[in-house]
Amino acid sequence: MSLPEPSRRDRPPTGAGWRRAWLPALVVSLAATVPATAQPSDPIVYTLRFPGAQTHYVDVEARVPTGGRPAVELMMAVWTPGSYLVREFARHVEAIAAHTTGGAALTLEKTRKNRWRVTTGGADPVVVSYRVYGREMSVRTNWIDADVAILNGAPTFLTLADESVPRPHDVRLELPAAWPRTTTGLEPQPALGPHAYRAPDFDTLVDTPIVAGDPAVYEFDVGGTPHLLVNLGESGVWDGPASARDVEAITRETHELWGTVPYDRYLFLHMITEAGGGLEHRNSTLLMSSRWDTSSRESYLDWLGLVAHELFHAWNVKRLRPVELGPFDYEREVHTESLWVVEGVTSYYDDLLVHRAGLSTKEEYLEALSGQIRALQTTPGREVQPVALASYDAWIEYYRADENSANTSISYYTKGAVIAFLLDMRIRAATDGRRTLDDLMRAAYARFSGSRGYTPAELRATASEVAGVDLTTWLHRALDTTEELDYGEALDWLGLAYDDPDPDEDRGWIGLRTRTADGRLLVSQVRRGTPALEAGFNVDDEIIAIGDHRVLPAEWSERIGATPPGTEIAVLVARRGALRRVGVRVAVEPARRWELTPVEAPSAAQQRRLDAWLTRR
Ligand SMILES: [Zn+2]
Repeated sequence: MSLPEPSRRDRPPTGAGWRRAWLPALVVSLAATVPATAQPSDPIVYTLRFPGAQTHYVDVEARVPTGGRPAVELMMAVWTPGSYLVREFARHVEAIAAHTTGGAALTLEKTRKNRWRVTTGGADPVVVSYRVYGREMSVRTNWIDADVAILNGAPTFLTLADESVPRPHDVRLELPAAWPRTTTGLEPQPALGPHAYRAPDFDTLVDTPIVAGDPAVYEFDVGGTPHLLVNLGESGVWDGPASARDVEAITRETHELWGTVPYDRYLFLHMITEAGGGLEHRNSTLLMSSRWDTSSRESYLDWLGLVAHELFHAWNVKRLRPVELGPFDYEREVHTESLWVVEGVTSYYDDLLVHRAGLSTKEEYLEALSGQIRALQTTPGREVQPVALASYDAWIEYYRADENSANTSISYYTKGAVIAFLLDMRIRAATDGRRTLDDLMRAAYARFSGSRGYTPAELRATASEVAGVDLTTWLHRALDTTEELDYGEALDWLGLAYDDPDPDEDRGWIGLRTRTADGRLLVSQVRRGTPALEAGFNVDDEIIAIGDHRVLPAEWSERIGATPPGTEIAVLVARRGALRRVGVRVAVEPARRWELTPVEAPSAAQQRRLDAWLTRR
């Protein structure tokens, strides 16, 4: 989620069968799939140096086994799992060259936008050196400066292309004197040096970020499993010990929900950098936040939600995954309809787990859920795009949002979370409260977290099984159509209602969204179903006056609000440098009824169910 990209939580999938090679139970079955002629692969060994860290470069030297072949092809990923956009990481690679271990130059040519061929002359290994520029502060790219290196696998490491057998990738870092420590979920390789690690395969390398610098580290055990909160940049503002206690509480609650812990050790790599976002990995997550997030209740709850979200992904998508999301083709888009499960279900559980862990009040939780519902129900694109299609088109829509996106598309985070809430209540109502969405997630995990993953049909069938009723039609309507969701059953089950404040009949509204740039008031969004769209306002119109009177950016909302509904006004705008007047009839804002509140006199059953949902007891 780094802004300005969509959604506050961005995060990835994975799941390659290769990646599981270290799991003893799977080693046997994996070995059976490797051709009998295959030899154990020699590792690619990378050395990372930072002589120009302050200029945002890492120097990479890779010793690449060739097996004596006359030429080898090297590849850099064009995207990184969990973030569905082709990012062309190869554009930050420069000064690439190849030579023998003795220093003799070898021919290296570029063969595709992200590939290079080395003519080996029989050398084995060959040494390939290059530099990578890293100055994009996001959870899926690289950042290098005098204080810190945040390295992701996809934008950092070239690897051998078209490999059919998993190959270990070793990484050794030579740190500047000011950086005492590296932290990563990779396995240490002390024989190679103090900051050396091994990934058993390329998938693991891509799935395991490395952070070097001088962080504050808080370690805690949950159920005997070590967890590390690694805070980089506390600088006397962030409350490290308090945040570690809260992360521990969320972790405990998450373990209890799933009933199984899929990793030996887990790292919360938290960069306090005035950026935002999170990306999930198999045994770690990379999080970014503002150092002021512990100073306000609202932003801190958001941060706790982000922590819960990324940790939940260690089960939901890193292991329980759609069939399409692993093993990955790192050179082209991978489409799936199932991001409503990956991101939507996770977005439903994140704030809920924070509440169940005792870190937010019932009112705060209901407000968070109301926010999801409100966002869905006030986005016109929900009437255009089914959520399964929103998922499939993530690459060309969600990650390429523009000023018209709200009119034509819906977030699979938002609608997926609301569907998860309704599905949870559907299952509870169908089983008289004996089963819940928690049961569905556990059942799906038990069934599909192996090497293959689930198809949309398999996941839907499992939902019906857990609910004990056929949910095919219900799920089809929710996922494959743009029909409005029905909240009646869920609200009735829990004894909740939408608080329906009447709109202020005296306040004017035309539904235009604006932004301010260089002291100018500009139209930023013209949504369907508003007087502004009918009137013909355009995005980027500069608003200058209402009638014959100048309107300044700070005055716009108040001036429109003070205009009695029904009044015709003419708004003077500048559009591509020419002045024109846009006539619009001021209206009353539609009711914003999406505030979940307990009904006045809930039944004992409703009280019991609300309690069971919020406490999981
Ligand atoms: Zn996510």
